[in-house]
Amino acid sequence: MDYFGSPVSKLIEELSRLPGIGRKSAQRLAFHMIRMPKEETQALAEAIVSARTQVRYCKECGCLTDEELCPICSDASRDHTVIMVVEDARDMAAYERTRQYKGVYHILQGVISPLSGVNPQDLKIKELLERLKDETVQEVIIATNPTVEGETTAMYLSRLLKPLGVKVTRIANGVPVGGDLEYIDEVTLARALEGRVPL
Ligand SMILES: [Zn+2]
Repeated sequence: MDYFGSPVSKLIEELSRLPGIGRKSAQRLAFHMIRMPKEETQALAEAIVSARTQVRYCKECGCLTDEELCPICSDASRDHTVIMVVEDARDMAAYERTRQYKGVYHILQGVISPLSGVNPQDLKIKELLERLKDETVQEVIIATNPTVEGETTAMYLSRLLKPLGVKVTRIANGVPVGGDLEYIDEVTLARALEGRVPL
């Protein structure tokens, strides 16, 4: 039943597809948007479309950016001999907030999880190996989350990378097991990085 007229119903339907947005929130957002000044709805719509069309993956680390290289990879003052491997861009942002890490990153885009059908070839591991061909890289810090999948991925990477002669380390305990890196405070994260151990 279309109570609100089809453009509004369509908007509610689209909004309710977003993660964490139920039917009620979608309705609230839709009615809010309809009451917004027209220029504001226009700006919002344009921001969504331009983010989606202009953003791409950095050709080095795989994080989201609007340039060929992200600001971190293109920053000559960063230490390009150290690569920190993280699950996703949110974890990278968490480490950036500590302001302790001066190296560069590699975004795996997930973790190995046979139960969810995620295999090593689904992750950006090939791209990581490609980066190691250039022998300037001396250390790879594996900073996947301390979950079962995160540990499995760390072990997998360690076995793969060590024969290449690169130093492989893992962020230290102190990150609570099962903890989500994104929500751990900066001090704990900085300490975990400081106390990293060889794998
Ligand atoms: Zn990058």
